[in-house]
Amino acid sequence: RQEQFRALRSVEPITKDGQRINLLMNAGLLVDLPQLNESGALGIGLFRTELQFMIASNMPKLEEQEAFYRSVLRQAAGRPVTFRTLDIGGDKVVPYFRGADEENPALGWRAIRLSLDRPGLIRTQLRALLRAASGQELRMMIPMVTEVAELRAVRELMQKEFQHLSRFGYELPKKLQFGAMLEVPALMWQLDELMAEVDFVSVGSNDLFQFSMAVDRGNARVADRFDNLGRPFLRILRDIVRAAERNNTSLTLCGEMAGKPLSAMALMGIGFRSISMSPASIGPVKAMLLGLDVKQLSDMMNAALDEGFPREPMRHLLENFALAN
Ligand code: PEP
Ligand code: MG
Repeated sequence: RQEQFRALRSVEPITKDGQRINLLMNAGLLVDLPQLNESGALGIGLFRTELQFMIASNMPKLEEQEAFYRSVLRQAAGRPVTFRTLDIGGDKVVPYFRGADEENPALGWRAIRLSLDRPGLIRTQLRALLRAASGQELRMMIPMVTEVAELRAVRELMQKEFQHLSRFGYELPKKLQFGAMLEVPALMWQLDELMAEVDFVSVGSNDLFQFSMAVDRGNARVADRFDNLGRPFLRILRDIVRAAERNNTSLTLCGEMAGKPLSAMALMGIGFRSISMSPASIGPVKAMLLGLDVKQLSDMMNAALDEGFPREPMRHLLENFALAN
């Protein structure tokens, strides 16, 4: 099967009924980059920049960050790379950067919250990104956004860095794409404002699932208890797709569920057309897509998601659909 997936590398990800799907990969280190060619991914949908920080023994300096981002972009050779700004805290521990002990680190001082309280950190990163992407497109997204105002605050810092660099004569990126990760359920009630504020949205389904179902993603006792293919979560995701369509906002999903063929199929059924996953999943997911009739699936799923008192678990319906196709 490995061979079979390899053979699909240069096959375009188009479904049986003609929908073109954007298959991207997740990455975080330079060793991941060769996977772009090997997997046939069309770009990097999630670049986890905190990994450089997690494997270092000291805070990486501006020049080190810049050099790192530059090599990523060089190796991506024109394919889009979406850098996620620092997502430190929660399950992502940076040994030399510790806040006070927290009772609920997942709900604590992390990601964008930490960045806005320590603007030096994010400003250095933004500067490194802007410098590394000079003359190219820079795509960046902000993790763990809870309120749209946080995005505006980052954008202001970004503006400052932009002006600073242009004052000193640096060549700036020729295009800037600014996005938000949708991981905190509160954003579900700010979807239109959110989408008015950004160029794209990427659903972090690992965290969105953790927070909407109130299950710790790292706790095996509860993590498997609820199904991410159950109706509640799929309805949440479908609402996001509908908001993106109505706002004409580009949408991706980059959590683990994108990489499992059955859940990737479900994502297509509710309207996702762009997903980002670990490189090893690209082949299996593409194989699934090539045989998929999305129209037929979405008719089945929409009816099943709208049922008032459903009897059959959604996962069974999806498995049956997959078997019949
Ligand atoms: C997510 O939360 O789904 C996500 C993609 O980010 P991470 O797994 O790095 O938290
Ligand atoms: Mg996350």
